[in-house]
Amino acid sequence: MAVLVINSGSSSIKYQLVEPETGDVLASGLVERIGEAEGRITHSDRAGESESTEPIADHRAGLQLAFDMFSRDGASLAEFGVSAVGHRVVHGGKVFSRPTLVTDDVITEVGKLSSLAPLHNPPNLLGIEVARALLPDVPHVAVFDTAFFRTLPRAANTYAIDAKLAEEHGVQRYGFHGTSHHYVSEQVAEFLGRPLSDVNQIILHLGNGASASAVQGGVAIDTSMGLTPLEGLVMGTRSGDIDPGILLHLRRSAGMTVDDLDELLNRRSGLRGLCGVNDFRELSELVSAGDQHATLAYEVYVHRLRKYVGAYMVALGRLDVITFTAGVGENAPHVRADALADLEEFGIVVDPETNQRRDKGARIISAPDSKVTVLVVPTNEELAIARAAATLANDV
Ligand code: ADP
Repeated sequence: MAVLVINSGSSSIKYQLVEPETGDVLASGLVERIGEAEGRITHSDRAGESESTEPIADHRAGLQLAFDMFSRDGASLAEFGVSAVGHRVVHGGKVFSRPTLVTDDVITEVGKLSSLAPLHNPPNLLGIEVARALLPDVPHVAVFDTAFFRTLPRAANTYAIDAKLAEEHGVQRYGFHGTSHHYVSEQVAEFLGRPLSDVNQIILHLGNGASASAVQGGVAIDTSMGLTPLEGLVMGTRSGDIDPGILLHLRRSAGMTVDDLDELLNRRSGLRGLCGVNDFRELSELVSAGDQHATLAYEVYVHRLRKYVGAYMVALGRLDVITFTAGVGENAPHVRADALADLEEFGIVVDPETNQRRDKGARIISAPDSKVTVLVVPTNEELAIARAAATLANDV
């Protein structure tokens, strides 16, 4: 039995066929540039890899094309025995605190949350609707990026603005990347052979998007992303935390519109805004070459990370584990070393040698005498979604 995991974005659909128990990926693919003159699909499965470019009118055509890819070698998607479909949904608002079986009512509720995530929820929904039409006989499960953070205490998820206005417009901290933080927090406990309820941890998910979380005994108590995925750490193209007064200032003195500011903060900020590149590998090369803008960008990135580590240590009271995950967290030893440098006083000592090793899989990078265990744990959101979908599908 396999679960089809679908991540349907505005102009692309990522999919994976996953065996939920072993984590084996039976097939995966990416449909890109949907609605543009020339679309592209890359697909790989046991028959090998294939790629084709052709116009892909809409999400329905895109998903149909993906399904057709499975039939290239004669086998069809049906023969894989798809037992459930798991859908990544970005915003679950206050409504969804766990993976949920998709019904017409769920679709209506997710649609209502679109005002909170206008770029994400509508294409997520489109993916659900198209996949339900193409695979009507299996359970579909929505897995929400925000769900893991529904446990945040009021003090952590409330913004100090006019309370009535906030309530009317759903303004509060929701947090994102929850599927990853949840999955990694459980992997940490399993890897260390300790009950999740005994472990206080900080998780640093550093990819193109980046977020930190504080997880106390398996329960999330704070996270860096907020009403939207814009708050918190410095990201590839997103600013993370800024003084909200900056927006007022730019509105008044640079005459920028709401759309201009949206574009500035989401696409022209973060590492790219500071030094022109958003890919961490390119950034690291520029830093090594002595580029001053890149060096400052790197310093701002690390400074912000350290601030969150400090804040969450205090929020947790007792800290057992700090874990790095996602593209940068898993692959950039210098970021891990710099983020936790000179914290011996706080019981945090990274071992320079093990930190440099390019091993795959979960591993300890702290020194034997470090009070706090520092780990690298690969995230796997697709597997987490597949497992959640399989669990719910079994109950149907
Ligand atoms: P997404 O948020 O898109 O899922 P990922 O978790 O894949 O992102 O992370 C992408 C980021 O990871 C990019 O900035 C990329 O440069 C960085 N990255 C990937 N591999 C390496 C590496 N070997 N060294 C440094 N950074 C890396």
